[in-house]
Amino acid sequence: MKYVSTRGKAPELDFEAAMLTGLARDGGLYVPATIPRMETDQIAALSGLSYEETAFRVMRPLVGDSFSDDEFRGAIARAYAGFGHVARAPLKQLAPNHFLLELFHGPTLAFKDFAMQLIGQLFELALKRRGERVTIVGATSGDTGSAAIEAFRGLDAVDVFILFPDGRVSEVQRRQMTTVTDANVHALAVKGDFDDCQARVKDMFNDFAFRDEVRLAGVNSINWARVLAQVVYYFYAAVSLGAPHRPVSFTVPTGNFGDIFAGFIAKRMGLPIDRLVVATNQNDILHRCLSGQGYVKGETRPSISPSMDIQVSSNFERALFYAYGCDGAAVAQLMEELSAQGGFGVSQGALEALREDFDSGSASEDETRAAIAATLRESGELICPHTAVAVKVANQLRAAAVPMITLATAHPAKFPAAVEQASGVHPPLPPRMADLYDRPERLTRIANDLGAIEDHIRGQIAK
Ligand SMILES: *Cc1c(COP(=O)(O)O)cnc(C)c1O
Repeated sequence: MKYVSTRGKAPELDFEAAMLTGLARDGGLYVPATIPRMETDQIAALSGLSYEETAFRVMRPLVGDSFSDDEFRGAIARAYAGFGHVARAPLKQLAPNHFLLELFHGPTLAFKDFAMQLIGQLFELALKRRGERVTIVGATSGDTGSAAIEAFRGLDAVDVFILFPDGRVSEVQRRQMTTVTDANVHALAVKGDFDDCQARVKDMFNDFAFRDEVRLAGVNSINWARVLAQVVYYFYAAVSLGAPHRPVSFTVPTGNFGDIFAGFIAKRMGLPIDRLVVATNQNDILHRCLSGQGYVKGETRPSISPSMDIQVSSNFERALFYAYGCDGAAVAQLMEELSAQGGFGVSQGALEALREDFDSGSASEDETRAAIAATLRESGELICPHTAVAVKVANQLRAAAVPMITLATAHPAKFPAAVEQASGVHPPLPPRMADLYDRPERLTRIANDLGAIEDHIRGQIAK
């Protein structure tokens, strides 16, 4: 199983190397050279299986010979053992033919745990075998950071540095990052917004001397292994509702496009998905782009769904790669236009290709709050603001004949102020986290400056 860069100029890697590397050396993102197909009978055979067994069968062909079957099964079992629900990703019905896929039963109460917990286990296996150490650096708009910290805390072969925008993540999100006491965990509050954090992480990866010196590794949403782990729950949910014999659609609260891109991979693997609906908040670059207005950066406008407050959606590059017929040079050209001019136009052919799979919609702040209130009133479910963005868009776009599965990406208790304001109900933290507000915090405030951040990392890593 080989992986190639979306910009066509980096070496091909196997799964393990693509996972350990993160960003490709030509600035691109790794994608599988060919997407393996699951036959109809193989998909049908997933019916009734545990989440873990589904995960093994769906991911196995994409992992190649990087891990033995036993190693891979063990990693999956350890990754999901700490989840608070035996189904791992349970489905709940919201309305006739509208279902919620609850992806928030992991240790940090958001869907990113699905990928991060598995990556932690796979990194440990790979690094132990190689006798190596790595420094993991990630940017987070909120949830990725705590998910990475929970996945890597206490491991011997890894230091984790998470950059987050100072003052722009919720208190629960911040505390989930800053109250972890393991010595290999470092939370950095950067004076800037999420795009600044993401840009500094990209800069570090492009500083090859630094990258090699500290053995940089990335687990941000650009990491292929993140996407891979997320493919599983598309199969799991669709099969629960009758796939492969009945198609389903998904609506996904979208920021960096990693989650919904996993749905695209599931579809290319053979899962009968009718529509993949991109739901954005008021930071709607993706909705504008899919509506034919080009991919044009604006200012980030802070919202009550902060994990979707982006202006550049890093994994969209992967979708563009396929929409442009796997032409790495064409993608590299678009990305140059993006950094030089702040945007680019999508060709008519590529736009048509994107629209074969993706629909899109956006929700304003008021519409998001209204969706929280209406969902509670109509179904008794309290949902987080990210999920509410998707519920609003799903209700607008879903067709009566095809079941719609809306991804519930975070637990409402991660965003208590917004949820309470919209619904009048205070969402309590699950009992296992009830003391979060009492734990002491540990973080470093740092300038939005590449040199300062690199110096700090050099000084902190275990040698
Ligand atoms: C990260 C995140 C998203 C956006 O997911 P992408 O893969 O970046 O599109 C949506 N909701 C929540 C709660 C998140 O943490």
